[in-house]
Amino acid sequence: MSNTPSQPVLPFLPFALPEIGEEEIAEVVDTLRSGWVTTGPKARKFEEAFGTYLNGGQAGEHGLHCIAVNSATAGLHLALEALGIGPGDEVITTTHTFTATAEVVRYLGADVKLVDIDPATLNIDPAAIEAAITPRTKCIMPVHYAGLAVDMDAIHDIAQRHGLKVVEDAAHALPTTFKGQLVGLHASDAVVFSFYANKTMTTGEGGMLVTRNAELAARAKVMRLHGINRDAFDRFTAKVPSWYYEIVAPGFKYNLTDIAAALGLHQLTRIDGFQVRREQIATRFDEALADLPLVLPPRPQHAGDLHAWHLYVVRLSDEATLTRDQLIDSLFADGIGVSVHYIPLHLHPYWKERYDLQPVQFPHSQKAYERMVSLPLYTRMTDADVERVITAVRKAFGR
Ligand SMILES: *Cc1c(COP(=O)(O)O)cnc(C)c1O
Repeated sequence: MSNTPSQPVLPFLPFALPEIGEEEIAEVVDTLRSGWVTTGPKARKFEEAFGTYLNGGQAGEHGLHCIAVNSATAGLHLALEALGIGPGDEVITTTHTFTATAEVVRYLGADVKLVDIDPATLNIDPAAIEAAITPRTKCIMPVHYAGLAVDMDAIHDIAQRHGLKVVEDAAHALPTTFKGQLVGLHASDAVVFSFYANKTMTTGEGGMLVTRNAELAARAKVMRLHGINRDAFDRFTAKVPSWYYEIVAPGFKYNLTDIAAALGLHQLTRIDGFQVRREQIATRFDEALADLPLVLPPRPQHAGDLHAWHLYVVRLSDEATLTRDQLIDSLFADGIGVSVHYIPLHLHPYWKERYDLQPVQFPHSQKAYERMVSLPLYTRMTDADVERVITAVRKAFGR
């Protein structure tokens, strides 16, 4: 073995990295020094700032309730709980998602009806939703896969005709627009964003539940913190004696800390810039990979709409001669971190066994899964990193 390789070995390019700046760090330090580290003034400020952001930068009365939580999973759970979903109920969602979307339904003792995707968008297929509705169906949970908006007109049309609730899993969708309106503003019962480490903005762990329904918001706030009718910061700052509170339900422990909210305050001010950089990288990938036997990611169906580009997912086309696993092995060998989004829920033992699911029930998700690879796409990638990914993908195809 030689100590002097003929070519410099490039460091491994991770699949995802968060972009945390000095302002985020300073705000976290300020929180640590302030004496108030759990849910308090910064969490509240973050909730206000999030509502203002969704409202196009206009503060004040916009009717959006933003409820900061310690994960999107928690936010989805709170939304369904507040809607009264429980045993005997069915909730329809896509098989092509992360298990969090579906598991929260099981937390509540309700059943999950998984349905197939539209292969053109990789989003839940409205026709499949319609076909899965039974008298037990209570709610639809669309997922804006990769950051591409679900056709919310189609979802709301179905929901209205069948009297169903809609809870959007918007974990990938900040900022995403459908027909010019940000995800978060459409007429759903609740919309939940994720600030997990690899999402389009991060608080380490965190999420935001957004709703226009004041009753749902009130219930979610109580259930977010043990079913207490006043939160700790209320008690700390209120004029009435601070020791007194009442438990009105067996709640959860889902509050977002001020340490996390400190990160979120600054990430949120940068989110539009992040989207611009993600879009730039996606556009460069599109142009440099166009001649390969790949199906490139779908673009928004309405001109001018924003794609959040949480993920850049390519699929091997029917003419491709290498397999998905060969493509992944080749990219890893060249030091490129990649992933697969997702191993569909119908293939996981729990979901498969619980509902006796077979791949033939989900032909589009199954085919997409067998052919898909997510390439690295994040704001900290340099132009040279982007070109390196392109070179490695082209090399895998012998180009
Ligand atoms: C990340 C993710 C979640 C869960 O988000 P957490 O904040 O980690 O709980 C839910 N749904 C989808 C589609 C996700 O990608």
